[in-house]
Amino acid sequence: MKIFILTKKSIFFISFIVLTILIIFTLYLVFKTDNVFAVELTYNSIVSSNLNEKITKLTSGKEKKAYFTFDDGPNATITPKVLDILKEENVKATFFVIGKNVEEHPEIVKRAYEEGHYIANHSYDHHNNSLYKNEESFIKQIKMTDEAIGKAIEKKDYCSYVFRFPNGYMSSQNKEKKKKARELLEEMNYSYIDWNCLNNDSMKKYTSTQLLENLKKCAKNKDTLVILMHDTKDVSNSSLVLKDSIRYFKEKGYKFENFYDLVE
Ligand SMILES: [Zn+2]
Repeated sequence: MKIFILTKKSIFFISFIVLTILIIFTLYLVFKTDNVFAVELTYNSIVSSNLNEKITKLTSGKEKKAYFTFDDGPNATITPKVLDILKEENVKATFFVIGKNVEEHPEIVKRAYEEGHYIANHSYDHHNNSLYKNEESFIKQIKMTDEAIGKAIEKKDYCSYVFRFPNGYMSSQNKEKKKKARELLEEMNYSYIDWNCLNNDSMKKYTSTQLLENLKKCAKNKDTLVILMHDTKDVSNSSLVLKDSIRYFKEKGYKFENFYDLVE
């Protein structure tokens, strides 16, 4: 009888241990998948033609989706603040980084990547004169930037597949040169994207309240938003209104995505 009781106790104990291990393992998997990307981007990934089509149609989408994009970083002061807020609010964004800034702060790019943000290409030096000097210089800037990103995130042959023209493709500067560059991008299997919503932080003159108002105004009556902000110090500080901006869109029922959701 005594043995039976002991066995019963033992079974209960073993079940308890097994259950605990299962729970811990499940939690580990849940936590782990948060940091694993569906697509590891390299030059050999087969995502480009599909991606191009999706990006072209993106802003005409009828779903309430917001793609937060941050240009011109990484910056030692602003980018970590932006990353902290994105983490707190559980929002995955896209960073259009400048190659030479990546070389200065690779650890920030690594953090952004590991926290699930898409790292995209915004040229090596952001200077139109050197970027559009000739075909070779344009191609070189794209490659140097992706190389810098790859080095920072420890991924060999990293390819970002998404480029944003400095000042945007739609701006009136360098129209003809950008048209040619667009053809080069196509040959290299890259897509490019501008934005359809911004808070005008690059105007350098807005208070936080005004930035938020600018954003709300710009987003009015739009379903899919590609939002432009900057994570640099020489503009109005978007990081101060980022939390409120995210919460505004959350209240309005927007889902937050980044370009990983397009390449999956
Ligand atoms: Zn820029």
